[in-house]
Amino acid sequence: MHYQGNIIRPPSEANSIILQATVGCSHNRCTFCGAYRAPEQKFHIKDERIINEDIAFAAQYCRRQKTVFLADGDALIIPQKRLLQLCQQIRAALPWVRRISLYANCRDILKRTRQELAELKQAGVGRVYMGLESGCEQVLEAIRKGATANEMIEAGRRVREAGIFLSVTCLLGIGGNTYSRQHAQDSAALLNKMQPSQIAVLTLMLLDNTELGQAAAAGSFHLPDQVGLFQELRTLLAGLKEFRCQFQANHASNYFTLDGRLPKDRDSFLAIIDQALAGAVALKPEGLRGL
Ligand code: SF4
Repeated sequence: MHYQGNIIRPPSEANSIILQATVGCSHNRCTFCGAYRAPEQKFHIKDERIINEDIAFAAQYCRRQKTVFLADGDALIIPQKRLLQLCQQIRAALPWVRRISLYANCRDILKRTRQELAELKQAGVGRVYMGLESGCEQVLEAIRKGATANEMIEAGRRVREAGIFLSVTCLLGIGGNTYSRQHAQDSAALLNKMQPSQIAVLTLMLLDNTELGQAAAAGSFHLPDQVGLFQELRTLLAGLKEFRCQFQANHASNYFTLDGRLPKDRDSFLAIIDQALAGAVALKPEGLRGL
């Protein structure tokens, strides 16, 4: 496979065929994200010939993998006609594949009509991963996410209405000490309106090659301490209403793992968080945390 730069995929795509259809992220402005800063990851849609060669490779060597993940950071930027063709190509060459997934940013979802999203679903796109990070307007603006809270809600609803599984990320600590509580409360309120299929909670890791990492080093951004981060998680979870979704805080960046379904597992998750707040949960050592 022709991989260029770091290949990043959601934890639940660990067993997928990773087909890199784009390089980097067309937005690439979020202040906390260092994923695609290297010059060789300058955003572009990959050459059709290279993608075709990778599909042919997968047809020969990836016969046991049942899902395809289209990398990198927002493959939904591929124009609709080309993306539909690509999905059709994948399904023709890899008939055993039962789902195609991709990262999508809010802006690219909103450029699609409901009809266009339904066409993608029909063509095999069964899962969309959208980076929400926060439901707090001030935080979204500060981190230059490129979307407002209302736009996030609308984008999420559109994906869901097309029958596509929607996974959204929420990032503990992204509001810093200043917005910590509001970030958690507003994120819960937004998620209640959006009702995604899956909520994936990560914990902010400050990277030297990002604006936020540099702000923290300069003393102008303060990441909440562990207690503050666990309180954010508790406020977020307690604020979610009774809609059904998967809830996962099992990313490498998190200090401990929660992985289950809501509302069924809410009370046991809250009990675990309370134990963590009381210092009674074994936490992942700092050196083992990662992105
Ligand atoms: S967080 Fe997502 S949208 Fe923002 S720069 Fe990184 S890859 Fe792009």
